[in-house]
Order: sequence, then structure tokens, then C-alpha cells
Amino acid sequence: MHSILPHATSTVPAYDPQGHNTGINWSCERRNAGGLLSRWAFPSELAEQYNGAEEWAYRRLQAVSLEGNLFETARVSKVDVGLPNDLDWVRPDIMESWYSLSREDSTAQVHPYKFTMFMLQRTQESGAVNLVQGKVFKLNYSAKIINPSSYILKGDKIVVTVGPWTSHLLPTCPVSGFLAHSITITPSRPVSAYALVTEIMLAKGKHISPEIYARKEKADICGEGVKVVQVPDTADDVELC
Ligand SMILES: Cc1cc2nc3c(=O)[nH]c(=O)nc-3n(C[C@H](O)[C@H](O)[C@H](O)COP(=O)(O)OP(=O)(O)OC[C@H]3O[C@@H](n4cnc5c(N)ncnc54)[C@H](O)[C@@H]3O)c2cc1C
Repeated sequence: MHSILPHATSTVPAYDPQGHNTGINWSCERRNAGGLLSRWAFPSELAEQYNGAEEWAYRRLQAVSLEGNLFETARVSKVDVGLPNDLDWVRPDIMESWYSLSREDSTAQVHPYKFTMFMLQRTQESGAVNLVQGKVFKLNYSAKIINPSSYILKGDKIVVTVGPWTSHLLPTCPVSGFLAHSITITPSRPVSAYALVTEIMLAKGKHISPEIYARKEKADICGEGVKVVQVPDTADDVELC
């Protein structure tokens, strides 16, 4: 496998649609991650070429680190900490300091679900990808091990991208599940394009560090990890409230 983005979407010079046969095993993705991108991770040309702004909510944004205090509020005002003028949707009375992590020329954002679905659709349109929906139960390293009751996908190179489930298929790979909670809110008015990394004091010795990703219509708030847990059997079993 050379790329999951064959033909028009491939940027791999060695990709040969005649010579390479690509298979994707796909299962459901329900999680809504932040979708924050650094310039090196994702060239803006792809967004320009495929109308990323419309297709996967691509937009430039600034990332800012904020330190706040809900324990002793109103000690400083927004003017005191000099927050950016357009960052007018955080409470200035609880902010103590901030600094810029990155500016719009080096940071962008996508809607993870829309982006991955768009890319999957493109690969299917290419006709060069064999998509199989379902759960992988086992990796066999020999062509001889065949269970006739199973669907077998053969490949000379296999890329395993099952995130926190990796150790289910590759037991020696030390990847484990870490429980965290995130919520999506619909603001009462549009919010400016910022990703916020925060450290907020709730009481003496008690801090929280939510990350806040403003989107065009929503904002995702991701809490920090709580504890190592056994990951549910599939992504569908991840608890949604
Ligand atoms: C709250 C939160 C915010 C984040 N924000 C950002 C961000 O702003 N920017 C950023 O770059 N990253 C962010 N991340 C990290 C990012 O989400 C992950 O790095 C990324 O999703 C990893 O992608 P993946 O495809 O490797 O794994 P995953 O996204 O975990 O996908 C694994 C997939 O494999 C499937 N699967 C599991 N087992 C099997 C099986 N046996 N057979 C078939 N399919 C299987 C699952 O159903 C799942 O769909 C964030 C993560 C979280 C939790």
C-alpha cells in the first residue's frame, strides 16, 4: 500500500494506479476530535484544490494558551491581560495570562468526520480502492492460515490504524485507552476562530485543563484524560450521553 489517496488526491510520486492495489478496511468513527492542524501536517493546497472550506470546514485559526482563575474572579480585567480583541467570547474577569501558540499562517482546522468522509469518498471514486466495511478480528502473517468462515483481506503491506484498539490486533504494541470526556456546545452567537489550551484554577490546588476548539457553528470542549481504561469493543460502544 502506498497511499490511501490514490489518483488525483495522491501526493505520492511513486504511486502507480495500475501497479498498486489498495484496500481499506473501514469501521465506524463517531468521535469528534479537535481537528487542529499544524502547517507541516497538512498543506493548505489540498483544501484549496478540493474546496476544503465547504467540504470539511477547513479554516485558518489561531491557537492560544490561557491561564484563568475561577476561584478568585475579577482580580484582573480583559484590558489587564490584553487578550486579542476578537477573542471576545471568553470571560475576561477570570483570565490571568495568555500567550500565542501559533498564528493563522501556521495553524488550521478541519472537521475530522467531514474530512475523513470526504477523503474516503475520493478514494472510492478513483476505482483503485477496495473498501471493505467491518471489524478485523485477526492479523495472519502466513498465507497458509485460512479460516474458511472468515472474509480474508490479503496484502504484502498492511497499515494498522485502529488507534487505541491497536493492542487488540498487535498485543505487543503498548497502546492503551485513556478515558477523557468531551462536549459539543452550540454558542448563542458565532465565535471567532480560535483553539484554546487552558489551565483554570477551580480551587486551591485544583486545576482543570480543557481544550476548546471553536468551529463555524459549534465549539468542541475536550477535557483532559482521567484514567487508563479498557477500551470498549468497538467505537460504537464508546459512551455517548
Ligand atoms: C478529544 C480529542 C481531541 C483531539 N484533537 C486533536 C486535534 O485537534 N488535532 C489532532 O491532530 N489530533 C487530535 N486528537 C488526536 C486524534 O484524534 C488522533 O490522533 C486520531 O484520531 C488518530 O487516528 P487513528 O485513525 O489512528 O485512530 P482513531 O481515530 O482512534 O480510529 C481508529 C478506528 O479504528 C477502528 N477500529 C478499531 N478496532 C478495529 C478493528 N478490529 N477492525 C476494524 N476497525 C477497527 C475504530 O472503530 C476507529 O474508527 C484528538 C483526540 C481526542 C480524543
